[in-house]
Amino acid sequence: MKSIYLDYAATTPVDLSVIKKMQPFFDTIFGNPSEIHKWGAKASEGIKNARSQISQALNCNPTEITYTSCATESINLSHKGLIEAFSHPNHPIPPNLPHIITSSIEHKAVLETCKHLEKLGWAKVTYLPVDEYGLVSVAEVEKAITPQTTLISLMYVNNEVGTIQPIAEIGKLLKTKYPKIYFHTDATQALPYLDCDVKKLNVDLLSFTGHKIYAPKGIGGLYIKSGVPVIRQQDGGSQENNLRAGTESVPLIVGLGQAVELVIKNRAKESSRLKALQKNLISQLVIVPGIQLTGPKTNRAPHIASFIVKDVEGEAMMLLLSDLGIAVSTGSACNSQILTSSHVLEAMGIKAEDSHGSLRLSLGKDTTKQDIEYAISCVKKVVLNLRKMSPVFDEEENALSEVEGLH
Ligand code: PLP
Repeated sequence: MKSIYLDYAATTPVDLSVIKKMQPFFDTIFGNPSEIHKWGAKASEGIKNARSQISQALNCNPTEITYTSCATESINLSHKGLIEAFSHPNHPIPPNLPHIITSSIEHKAVLETCKHLEKLGWAKVTYLPVDEYGLVSVAEVEKAITPQTTLISLMYVNNEVGTIQPIAEIGKLLKTKYPKIYFHTDATQALPYLDCDVKKLNVDLLSFTGHKIYAPKGIGGLYIKSGVPVIRQQDGGSQENNLRAGTESVPLIVGLGQAVELVIKNRAKESSRLKALQKNLISQLVIVPGIQLTGPKTNRAPHIASFIVKDVEGEAMMLLLSDLGIAVSTGSACNSQILTSSHVLEAMGIKAEDSHGSLRLSLGKDTTKQDIEYAISCVKKVVLNLRKMSPVFDEEENALSEVEGLH
């Protein structure tokens, strides 16, 4: 049976060159990087090299990179660390509570962190609406700014629908008109496909993770612009420039550095290759009656194609496609255990009963033209079969059974 993985937005396999680079750091170069003997120094060099690879990719100083365990931890460190800094003696609390602006379609890592800060009474949060394509309006961002606004946090690429937010435009606005506001972007889905030059984006904080870019799970990073006040959230030793205590996971850090270098090297070519595959996938699925694209038609990340399939449950599609050897997702992977409607689709104005039929196919380095053709025919077959079982399905109105090769 075929085995076609189309869930790269959930996670990616580790690249062989990444495994190879990590290998010696498990056994030969195993020293504790905090020790100054030869064993420690060699491990420390691995960390330093990876920091240099990452800082080149983001166009920042190596000292501005902090290793974490994942994007969720990076976001927690960024937001909690920054807001806590405003109660530090060096950073007096503004007359009122610090104010955070974010969007209603952020990953839960951002939304739950913001809610936690609200619950603690440390910050006030504005959750901006988005349009039908999942886009935040720059004018709405500016309108929401108050004298207490301390942090603006917006994702670069949405993980469910692939919408690209105008991060550079917002960054420029903030730098020129509101230079005291700190700007964070969650670049988890953007790093392999979009320019993440922190100077061009004008961001102060940028979060990313290894397992979406062909590095292992359990490693992530946070760019913190020099001078941005962030208080560490994990106390203990003085690792990571005193920002994240605990012995560093040297092999995973080395793997992250290699993976970042690799995705940046292949970015332009891979983006246009996936864009062509995505275009074919979208154009062939939206002609099926009752299948509708979610997110923008153009200006979307090249690896995410997402749809609403009417009168069909996303979970049922996902399981039947899995039986045919295809991995897809319904909504975001983090939601797939819970049968609730997606907060992203809801914010885009999609009705709950329709969002239950959401389907995301996400592409990556091993996706071929043949994979996409096979996936298209399987999606059509699965949708037809499920609709035949659906009590609300009206066969006369549905022309899907006439699509060639589906019987
Ligand atoms: N932000 C976005 C946009 C994501 O897609 C994800 C993962 O799905 C995360 C944050 C969380 O990443 P991690 O699993 O590395 O914490």
